[in-house]
Order: sequence, then structure tokens, then C-alpha cells
Amino acid sequence: MKVTVIGTGFVGVVSAAVFASLENTVIGLDIDEKKVSSLKQGEVPFFEPDLEKLLLSQQKLGHLSFTTNYATAIPTAEVIIIAVGTPSNEDGHADLSYLYASLDSLAEHIKDDVIIAVKSTVPPGTLMAVEKYLRQRTNKNFELASLPEFLREGSAVEDTLHPDRVVIGVDSEEAFQKLRTLHQPLTNTILKVKPSSAQMGKYSSNAYLATRITFINQIADLCEHNGADIEEVIAILGQDKRIGSHYWYPGLGYGGSCFPKDVRELARYSQEVGESNNIFNKIHELNEDRIPKLLEEFGSKVGGWSGKKVAVLGLSFKPHTNDMREAPSVRIIPKLLAAGAHIVGFDPQALTSAPYFLKSHPQLEYSSDIAAAIAEADVVMALVEWPEIINFDFESVVYTKPQRLFIDARNQFEILALKKAGFKYQGIGRTYAD
Ligand code: NAD
Repeated sequence: MKVTVIGTGFVGVVSAAVFASLENTVIGLDIDEKKVSSLKQGEVPFFEPDLEKLLLSQQKLGHLSFTTNYATAIPTAEVIIIAVGTPSNEDGHADLSYLYASLDSLAEHIKDDVIIAVKSTVPPGTLMAVEKYLRQRTNKNFELASLPEFLREGSAVEDTLHPDRVVIGVDSEEAFQKLRTLHQPLTNTILKVKPSSAQMGKYSSNAYLATRITFINQIADLCEHNGADIEEVIAILGQDKRIGSHYWYPGLGYGGSCFPKDVRELARYSQEVGESNNIFNKIHELNEDRIPKLLEEFGSKVGGWSGKKVAVLGLSFKPHTNDMREAPSVRIIPKLLAAGAHIVGFDPQALTSAPYFLKSHPQLEYSSDIAAAIAEADVVMALVEWPEIINFDFESVVYTKPQRLFIDARNQFEILALKKAGFKYQGIGRTYAD
């Protein structure tokens, strides 16, 4: 099948490479010339396991190419997949300007009977608006579909090759059959639903996971008041089949490029349709308040942040990616600097993206060596469960500060080992005597 993917960011480039690996002829189209030029050379401009290898092999086989030119990428396409960004506006609205700009550019080039599938996360009702918009710009026949994406950065290739489900929101049976044929090699779990259900399903999925994170953070905070250990509480919860033991992450709250913006959009949408008494506003508010609240609590344990040396381990929003969009580090580091702390940041992959995301803080130091980053620290703050950080031998370092606090923001470390290394331990929702 001839497929063009518009937007070769995290989602688009993975989809393009995976569809190419299924022997489709795929063109990745982006307006970012720098990005396209590096993709043409087989270089992925961000870190994602297994992607570069797949990209190179598919380009060599001639299944995959990249361009910035709508006039060459659109007329041949049987299926166009739109995967441009839909970031949050200041008021929480999903910014659909990239989506509409892509429609403006593609309209004059489409051929009859093309299927245009919107993979970008967009609010319910958007597909109807897109249909009206495109009909005003072309006389060609086309079918629209909603094709929400559920991949996780850090395991994006694996998730796309083996999705839990593929959701196809369509009105037309013909369009469904074509998109089903495209996805059939990936899974048998293909759900045909209304376009609005597909969009609601995507928002609900992210909002539910964000709610789960917020819920366990609230329980963790209560544990701090009574000596309970949140990890033991999770073990109890997990044995209940109605609840399950997976996806419990007490910590600093949710971040990344999707959860914060999708919860905000759902809150805004609820408000717009008159459902103003909803949990989404509260989830967003609790998540926003979490880092300031915890920083104040942690700061009180070291006599305030002023003049303290803090090693921040893990700058990406989660392991196995260098994406720092809404990462805890991006919210924490400016606050610590403003409070007078000196910061050294370490990350196995995100040292390349950190100077961009934290560009207004030139005083921030970076180290590519954990031992060097922590040797002089008063406080070590482990924000992300990178294996390089979890498996590091903290006892092997010669420290200069006699009093040291270790903040385990993901509850991932052996408390005894850290104590042996001379740290006072501070986890989330677990209190242990020194
Ligand atoms: P991204 O910002 O990494 O990539 C978007 C790309 O679109 C950029 O390369 C940009 O240059 C390109 N673009 C913008 N306007 C364009 C235009 N008019 N024509 C061609 N290209 C254009 O975004 P992303 O993280 O890949 O997310 C894309 C969509 O997928 C969003 O709606 C997001 O919510 C959703 N999503 C993302 C993830 C994730 O983990 N990143 C997961 C599921 C869903």
C-alpha cells in the first residue's frame, strides 16, 4: 500500500518505519527541513531504542523515504496518516493549528478516494470539523478516519509492532477495510468504532492512567503520616483482581508530552460541554501542586535549599528516551536554582536535549559521569529509573559531604545499600528511621 505519514516526530517516524517494514511504500513528510535531512541519512533526531536500525534498513530496501514536499508525497498516497503535534495552548485547549496547516497543504494534491487518517490526539468532534474544512478546499473524494496512537516513548517500536489494540474510528466500511488491511499484520485486535469514540477512547486512556498516578500519590502522602510503606500498600492492592498490580507509580506526578496536555484538554472540553464538576480539573491541579509541595518537604529535611549542592539524576521524563517535554527535571531544577541550590544534572541520553529545555539556566552544570555528579553533593535526587542509575554502586564513591540525603523519587533503590553508602534515605510514601 502507498502510505504517506505527515509529521515525522516521535509518533510519525515510528509509524512510517513500521508500516515500511510491512512492505508498504511509505513516505514521511515533514516541514522541518533539518529533521528530514537527518532522517534521510538514517539518523533519528531523538533517542528511541531500535528505531535507527529499522529506519536504516527500510530506507536501504527502498520501502521508506522522507521529504518536505507535499507535491511529491501526497498525489501517490492511498492512505495519508496525519501525526503532527497537538500541544496545549495556555488555556488548556489542544492547539490544532498544525493539523489545519497540514490540511491546507495537502488539499490541492490529494487523489480521488484517498483515506486521510488523523493519528494526532484531537478532541472529539474534530473529524467533523476537518471534513467540512477539507470539502471547502478540494472536489476530490476522500474518506476520513480517526486512528489514535497508544505507543509509549522508550518502547515505541515494540509498542507499534505489537499494539494492545488498533482503534479505527470511521463511518465508512470501505475505509475501515483498507485501514484494517494495513494494520492486520500487527494485531488481530482491531476495533471499528465511531470517530468520536476513538477520540474519547484515547483521551480516556491517558486520563485514566494520569488519575491512577494521582490516586497513588495521594495514598503515598497519607502513608507519610502513619508509617505505612506505599510499596507494601501497593502489594496489597495488587492482589485484588479488580485492581491489579501493574501501573502503580508513586512519585513526583505524571509528565511527558501527552498526559499533562490530554488531561488539560479533557478538563477544558468537559467545561465547554457544561460538565464543569469533573475530576479532570482536580487531577491537573493536584499534579501541578505536587512538585512544589514535595520540594518544600524535602527542603525542610536539609535545612533549606540555599547553598546546597544537588545532583539531579535523570533529566528525561522517563527512562529510555531523551524527551524532556514536561519532565520532572524541567520543573524541579528552575525551582531549586531559584532557591539558591547549585545543581549538577546527569542523564544517560538527555544531556543532548537538556541545554535546550533548560536554556534559561546557564548556571546549571551537567555531568556524563554519575560518580562525578554526586561526589560533592549534599542531596542526590534520583528522578528517573534509568538502569544506569538504579544499578550504580553508590558505595563505590568517595564523598566529600558527611551529611547526605538521597531522594528516591521513584522508590526504586535498596534502602540498606544507600544507608551503607552514608545517605539518609527519603522515598515517596515510605518513612524509615535513620
Ligand atoms: P512531535 O512534536 O514529536 O512531532 C510532530 C511533527 O509534526 C514535527 O516533526 C513537526 O515538524 C511536524 N509538523 C508540524 N506541522 C506540520 C505540517 N504542517 N506538515 C508536516 N509536518 C508538520 O509530536 P509527537 O510526539 O510525534 O506527537 C504527535 C501526535 O501524536 C500528538 O497529537 C500527540 O499527542 C500524539 N501522541 C504522541 C505520543 C508520544 O508518546 N509522543 C503518543 C501517543 C499519541
